[in-house]
Amino acid sequence: MLTVSLKKESLTEQNIRVGNVRAPQRIKSEPAAPPAQKGGFASPRYYHPYACFGCRRSFKRASRIAAVLACPHCGGPAIGLTRKFKPPPQADVAQWKKVEALVRRGFLFWSLGEPYPETLKEVDAFAARHATFVQGERKKHPAAFAEIDAALANPSGS
Ligand SMILES: [Zn+2]
Repeated sequence: MLTVSLKKESLTEQNIRVGNVRAPQRIKSEPAAPPAQKGGFASPRYYHPYACFGCRRSFKRASRIAAVLACPHCGGPAIGLTRKFKPPPQADVAQWKKVEALVRRGFLFWSLGEPYPETLKEVDAFAARHATFVQGERKKHPAAFAEIDAALANPSGS
């Protein structure tokens, strides 16, 4: 006998509004998580940082929204990073340059078994040590990385 299991409607529908953050649309077919977001459930409770290199600011949004979002401060592209990312102070240009160099090489602040470089000078050697890992991530998320690369190539947005 055929058993029809009716999918229970999401209980979170009514609880999804958190503060004034735009709630994600109810997910029909589970979208791929942006590359900086490993597995887990799509939830407005899991905030992820986005970094804008145009104005050196970071902001957070609920999970599973996008790999790149428009920066609410300057309108330029902001790249979704993992929750491990701790934004430097806006005035710390050197640290922001280092972060940008890492992101341009495909590093979205996953845990990689060693601390992330402290200076821009260390970025190349670090990137070389983890090149295989990044290649793997790029292969898993080609569309998202294409979006990230395009955003970094055209930092003024549009
Ligand atoms: Zn910005």
